[in-house]
Amino acid sequence: MFKINENYLKLQGSYLFSTIAKKVAAYSAANPDKGIIRLGIGDVTQPLAPAIIDALHGAVDEMGKAESFHGYAPDLGYEFLRNAIAKNDYQDRGADIQPDEIFVSDGAKSDSGNIQEIFSLDNKVAVCDPVYPVYLDANVMAGRTGDFNQATESFGNVIYMPCSEANGFVPELPKEKPDMIYLCFPNNPTGSAITKAQLKEWVDYANRIGAVIIYDAAYEAYISEEDVPHTIFECEGARTCAIELRSFSKNAGFTGTRLGYTVIPKDLKCGDVALHSLWARRHGTKYNGAPYIIQRAGEAVYSEAGKQQLKDQVGYYMNNARIIKEGLKAAGYTVYGGVNAPYIWLKTPDRMTSWEFFDYLLENANVVGTPGSGFGPSGEGYFRLTAFGSYENTIAAIERIKKL
Ligand code: PLP
Repeated sequence: MFKINENYLKLQGSYLFSTIAKKVAAYSAANPDKGIIRLGIGDVTQPLAPAIIDALHGAVDEMGKAESFHGYAPDLGYEFLRNAIAKNDYQDRGADIQPDEIFVSDGAKSDSGNIQEIFSLDNKVAVCDPVYPVYLDANVMAGRTGDFNQATESFGNVIYMPCSEANGFVPELPKEKPDMIYLCFPNNPTGSAITKAQLKEWVDYANRIGAVIIYDAAYEAYISEEDVPHTIFECEGARTCAIELRSFSKNAGFTGTRLGYTVIPKDLKCGDVALHSLWARRHGTKYNGAPYIIQRAGEAVYSEAGKQQLKDQVGYYMNNARIIKEGLKAAGYTVYGGVNAPYIWLKTPDRMTSWEFFDYLLENANVVGTPGSGFGPSGEGYFRLTAFGSYENTIAAIERIKKL
């Protein structure tokens, strides 16, 4: 009889968002007259910007003619896109990243889940707590963790780095030595940001102890404050210790269109082995490239028209973030985030647990959010709302919450 990968059995329940979806579906079925507002899942709601739609149309037409048809894309992505990324996201910010250090992909979820494959199973992983669940679950599936401990609500053999009010939701350097450190800033779920000085401390630490930082900057476009770095490669020394993950989902609305990329500097090595060549091998073997039309759409993100339209789109969501943050504060809630990220992280009132508050909000305001405890034990007592709804729904949701 065949055997399964038993590491999958260590995973906890269903994925957070399917649990939420089930609860919301059950409530809707029992209360069909109630209009539910969803500020839970981090999916965008605004349509693709005109510059992106134009690029898509143009590329679709190219695909319909023999002379401009494109088959398999180059493993690492088309040069036109990698050049645009290297220039706009790195070189123009003073970060030394070259086009051939960029690997275009179908998004940051797959990259953040897959990147662990190029590392030994013996490596010790450190994650923020609360955390975007993919980093942890991918390592559980791979067998890099121990079992789940119900009492501590955490996996064995993982370093959890608490992110709390006390440390401004930026983790302290762990006491135990990690090999792989996952950082995500601006952060999902807490909406917090890291300053360049704080990130530099992490870079120095990783170089000192020989760890790799897997830096998820999916929310980079939402940064509004001066001292917040847009990429880890703004920090000197990052080329020898960091991998960066980026997404077109939240800056340009590609959640359904799918595009992202990973940056691995050629200086990042384990002994003589460049991680760049391992990821190139992995990418070449297991991935056949993001679609041509989508990469053309990605290129349009960096056009002058695209940049302006996306600035407006991000501004639209950040206006929602401000409405949520100010509205909740006026209603007496303690709130974090919402300044450099489209997430608002609020403390649940009256000592309610995160899931108690989820039910309370669903039943009494018909508003859906995400329980903080779903992101890790330190998320207990918190709740996440997202700014990705429409302006009208955001206003309506906050009015309902204020009335509670
Ligand atoms: N990384 C973080 C921190 C996220 O919050 C998300 C999506 O919510 C992703 C990655 C996934 O991005 P993508 O849509 O590019 O797969």
